[in-house]
Amino acid sequence: MGLVDTHCHLDPAYFPDGPEPPMARAREAGVVGFVVIGVGDSLAPARAAIALASSLPKEVAATAGVHPHDARLYGDMEQELAELVKNDAVVAVGECGLDYHYDYSPRDQQRDAFAKQIALARSVKKPIVVHTRTAASETLDVMRAECRGDVRGVIHCFSEDRAFAEVALDLGFYISFSGIVTFKNAKAVAEVAAWAPADRVLVETDSPYLAPVPFRGKPCEPAYVKHTAMRVAELRGVSLEELAQTSTHNAVALFGREFGA
Ligand SMILES: [Zn+2]
Ligand SMILES: [Zn+2]
Repeated sequence: MGLVDTHCHLDPAYFPDGPEPPMARAREAGVVGFVVIGVGDSLAPARAAIALASSLPKEVAATAGVHPHDARLYGDMEQELAELVKNDAVVAVGECGLDYHYDYSPRDQQRDAFAKQIALARSVKKPIVVHTRTAASETLDVMRAECRGDVRGVIHCFSEDRAFAEVALDLGFYISFSGIVTFKNAKAVAEVAAWAPADRVLVETDSPYLAPVPFRGKPCEPAYVKHTAMRVAELRGVSLEELAQTSTHNAVALFGREFGA
């Protein structure tokens, strides 16, 4: 079938036995590619993601960035991050963005780290992975001001509405759907999944978070991207096979990498 999980965290903190067991289960479920997100309160997860991607270049691509939760530490990581994102195994900068739900870092520092990572992405000609929570208009403000038509990327774990999606699409961004789209109460997200242009739709798990129905509340892992893809396919009135083909084609187009043996 050939799905790509375009956003998963496989750090030892989440998978103490290493990334191989969940990756093996994902392969069984038809997953041919993994975009492993390298963020944390240090660059250790980014280094680990790069090492994994370098050892499995046909299956795994890495990102490196500073999550809005850790934006207060951006200055400490800035220099090494600028080196890491040059690595061929790194296909995007991030996840970066704004999270005003948790406010783990001061908002001005979140905006600053977000803007700086967009500039960093421009300097290496790679896309960004955007995280936004309870900060919709502020996120779009930063994207409008900083992306300037030559930095694009993906709104990961899309949890906004159609108005937000329209602006993001206009800015050249892709929309990635996570397990949220399978939740009964996520009506606005389901509407966007049904309507979004086929050439901008991606699927992801955001493992270990946000497991789709029927695993909701349990730790999430890349194999479950199939359930998210099934729901998106249902909403769009296409087969799972077609959705897999389209979303994988989009992942290749965005990240500039082939996936699968
Ligand atoms: Zn996120
Ligand atoms: Zn994430």
